[in-house]
Amino acid sequence: MSTTLEASDTTYQDRNPATGAVIADVHETTREELDAAVRAARKAFDGGKWSSMAASRRAKIVYKMAQLIGERANELMMLEVRDNGKAVSTAKGEMGAIVDCFEFYAGAATKNFGETMPPPLPTYLANTVREPVGVVGAIIPWNFPLLLASWKVAPALAAGCTVVLKPAPSTPLTAIELGKIALEAGVPEGVLNVVTGSGRELGQWLVEHPLVDKIAFTGSTATGKLVAKTAADTVKRVTLELGGKSPSLVFDDADIDAAVAGAIYGIFYNAGQACEARSRVLLQKSIYDRFVAAFVEKAKHVRVGNPEDPQTHVGAITLREQLEKIESYCAVGSAEGAKALLGGSAPSLEGDLAGGMFWNVTAFEARPEHRISREEIFGPVVTFVPFETEAEAIALANDSEYGLSASVWSQNIGRANRVARALRSGTVAINTPYAVFPGVPFGGYKQSGYGRELGMETMRLYTETKSVLTYIGEKPMNPWSL
Ligand code: NAD
Repeated sequence: MSTTLEASDTTYQDRNPATGAVIADVHETTREELDAAVRAARKAFDGGKWSSMAASRRAKIVYKMAQLIGERANELMMLEVRDNGKAVSTAKGEMGAIVDCFEFYAGAATKNFGETMPPPLPTYLANTVREPVGVVGAIIPWNFPLLLASWKVAPALAAGCTVVLKPAPSTPLTAIELGKIALEAGVPEGVLNVVTGSGRELGQWLVEHPLVDKIAFTGSTATGKLVAKTAADTVKRVTLELGGKSPSLVFDDADIDAAVAGAIYGIFYNAGQACEARSRVLLQKSIYDRFVAAFVEKAKHVRVGNPEDPQTHVGAITLREQLEKIESYCAVGSAEGAKALLGGSAPSLEGDLAGGMFWNVTAFEARPEHRISREEIFGPVVTFVPFETEAEAIALANDSEYGLSASVWSQNIGRANRVARALRSGTVAINTPYAVFPGVPFGGYKQSGYGRELGMETMRLYTETKSVLTYIGEKPMNPWSL
């Protein structure tokens, strides 16, 4: 932040979704303060201290961030649990993944290679260098606050960019801690700036700002479209990680017990508030009844409740609007003729949790045209739809405006890989619900977005390619013989 700007003293209340208790008064960033944050990032970038630093030195600082996050994992985990409402078991796994992400990109900083081309003419050398793209506006949703911030901040810093990080209004606390950790690790002032605010306009100002070079956005498809349109005015680079309606395809040659357990985890993990949640389970007819009965029976043992209890599988729903959306989709499902098999209501919890927002794990038998089979609910609600043939399964899976992730369950490796190839999806997981790792690109086909996060591919998206051509001929280049 600029030292000359007097900070506004306006704040908003941040609540624990599991209890309703206020846990923090959070700074409401004004437009002037956002401008100061962007200018600080611009100045830090243009000054070159970070962007021109030896990659090996930058790598050490990013690695130090990984270490500091690891040391504070418990504290960060509890902050995330209270801010977001997620089960502590879920948050624990995320902390490990966040450390891995910073470690991966610390390593990537020194492997951001350009290329040498075959000489385009005998008297030329041609090569490319990869330079940091500049000031990055990183916009984060509320479902995996620190994890998704790390997916953007780690590669951006490793590439030599400077960042203005905007967490979601309801889950800002771990992003603020990440800013402090960056300073402690040795990231120079102005390189990572965190701005918080309760309204949608803060993100909009960031996307509009002419001194920002790139927007890395994760959020809903509706907001993503607006971001892309706004960013077009200043021709910003944009990556969009958006919504999903991801399928699990279960064939009759699958290990059914593994598929049931995987499908349960695939939808109910993080209370279904995951972009890659496997919210549609497509089942081959011959195993349909067996699978559904086993799913419903096992899902009764999913423990919904106190996020701070290590035994809990599914914690709170993060936002009031989100809870209302889930409730209304369940009503729509029943009204459209889908058959409720499980859940469909809020659990009655006692004590502090009586003031919290929770939803029971829910399953419907549905038809592909039902809205609950087509639209992103972003909650613990799954639909079962039957299919006869492999071709029908592929057609059903691809019949979606989204294309983020899919799981294929089959013991036949030919079939599993044939289906994986046919799916229009950024990730296909074979015989597992889980396929997100720092070294593996993650992102969407179709309206699930464009660009990728994670992997080395992402490093390229935080850089520009500069082509450098050198004339090495003995005689000077003089095309007009002047
Ligand atoms: P959202 O689109 O409402 O908000 C996302 C972020 O954008 C928030 O920080 C918000 O404040 C900000 N924002 C709002 N209006 C803006 C504007 N006009 N300009 C710029 N920024 C603006 O999404 P959400 O409800 O926070 O998150 C849920 C959505 O995110 C779901 O659709 C989910 O699928 C998606 N998501 C996608 C991924 C992925 O990697 N593909 C991961 C997690 C979540």
